[in-house]
Amino acid sequence: MKQKARHPEKVNKPENPLKKKPSWIRSKITDSQVFFQTKKVVNENKLVTVCEEANCPNITECWSKKHATFMIMGDTCTRACAFCDVKTGKPTNLDIFEPIKISNAVKKLNLEHVVITSVDRDDLEDGGSDHFYRVVQATRDKNPNTSIEVLTPDFLRKGNAYKKILRADLDVFNHNIETVPRLYTTVRPGARYFASLELLKNAKKESPKVFTKSGIMVGLGENFEEIVQVMDDLRSADVDFITIGQYLQPSTKHHPLHRYYHPKEFEQLGSIAKTKGFLLVSSSPLTRSSYHADEDFRKLQDARNKKLECLQLQ
Ligand code: SF4
Repeated sequence: MKQKARHPEKVNKPENPLKKKPSWIRSKITDSQVFFQTKKVVNENKLVTVCEEANCPNITECWSKKHATFMIMGDTCTRACAFCDVKTGKPTNLDIFEPIKISNAVKKLNLEHVVITSVDRDDLEDGGSDHFYRVVQATRDKNPNTSIEVLTPDFLRKGNAYKKILRADLDVFNHNIETVPRLYTTVRPGARYFASLELLKNAKKESPKVFTKSGIMVGLGENFEEIVQVMDDLRSADVDFITIGQYLQPSTKHHPLHRYYHPKEFEQLGSIAKTKGFLLVSSSPLTRSSYHADEDFRKLQDARNKKLECLQLQ
């Protein structure tokens, strides 16, 4: 049977040759037994993970710590972002058993922290917010001690649909800004930079106790000043945590990789971000928004507690 093209919308795009990876972009191999346990739970529950769908370079390391990021509402996205390796097309109907499947998998893996993300579902009236809410709530009910992080779509043109997710008992609301405003039309054609910022700002207003988080990829053709501007924009939206990582071009049909940033440049960007007042900053070549999310959640809590202590002393 002929395999369907993963990115039919990119078939006629120009070829962008892949650049050789530098030595610092290397996947780590760790405890493979735990890796296969994680894989088994994912497969047995027929779950979709962004780790696999986006071909994440950190999969061996993360899954060896049982840290998988679950992707709900199917494996097919209604958007066609130029950087992303998730399949584009017409999605299938929502799986009404997904809330129970995710909550069971979290229990089975005995996770202290879980990240739940989704594809964009522009085809649904509410963008899938009600389903998202059900998944989070079922996970919370079955795993009262697990901290829950959501990495959401932008819910563009879906009004206040995002608010439904915030009614669930969650700990971190993450929405990635992905790139600088100048590159939005080519990198995220279906999205709007200021709509994404607004979403983050409104999420914080709606649920001040929930941490907000956002991430940017570098190497897409932006410059340093533009990245610093994104930092300022995210702070003005009251975002608590910024992640900065290297863009890796999934195929010759994806957005061209402009350049690899050196680890020292990531340090430099991280230092600048810290001066902007984020509670937490993660900046490294392999940083992804869900990378080390469990440890980072604890760091976020500590940073907030310290800030509150300082405020009380004043
Ligand atoms: S960084 Fe995130 S997407 Fe990548 S393997 Fe780890 S959990 Fe999965």
